[in-house]
Amino acid sequence: MKVLIVEDEVRVANFLRKGLREAGHDVDAVANGQKACECVANTEYDMILLDWMLPDTSGIDLCLDWRKQALRIPIIMVTAKDTTHDLISALDGGADDYLIKPFALAELFARMRALHRRSSEIPPKATFKLDDLVLDWASREARRSKDQIYLSPREFSLLEFFFRNLGKTISKRELSEQVLGVHHDANTNLIEVHINHLRNKLDCGSKRPLIHTIRGVGYVLKVLEQ
Ligand code: CA
Repeated sequence: MKVLIVEDEVRVANFLRKGLREAGHDVDAVANGQKACECVANTEYDMILLDWMLPDTSGIDLCLDWRKQALRIPIIMVTAKDTTHDLISALDGGADDYLIKPFALAELFARMRALHRRSSEIPPKATFKLDDLVLDWASREARRSKDQIYLSPREFSLLEFFFRNLGKTISKRELSEQVLGVHHDANTNLIEVHINHLRNKLDCGSKRPLIHTIRGVGYVLKVLEQ
């Protein structure tokens, strides 16, 4: 894989660069946001490892900017921040996964493989429909009736996962591990927070809610029989 490391801490950058090169990856490493943007504009990367606190910007702001520019390269945030709030900010900012320092290279590699597999499995174009809800993969747009719905990258991934498992009850563990790419922790309400955001956008004001809670099991996307 062609990997870009954005990290201003020399020790961490060297550790990552050495480990990734030994694992056979082609690596560029930069230490600030400006250089990262130049790299991304000039080179096609398969993966970006992005530090949160950079000297000239934050990893979250970089991530948001890139996603606004429709850059779809898988991004893993690598950071010392570890609260649920931080995690939600990173994922809502467009990061695909999140790794807390210090970490083992083996875990990073496993996450990179999983993320690469997920991103390369997605077909280039797909439109999903259920009732009056439409999710257009190519344009990254969702609509309900004729109303356009803005979804964060994370909400988009969740909804796409629901569509790919239409009518099937999905557990919080599956959502944590397969969509958010984090270990499921029953003590956090991370999934509930995301589902609530998604529900507010999709089902708010509709007489036909589409995301349903199956108590003690998980969630399902479907039209309820009247
Ligand atoms: Ca830093």
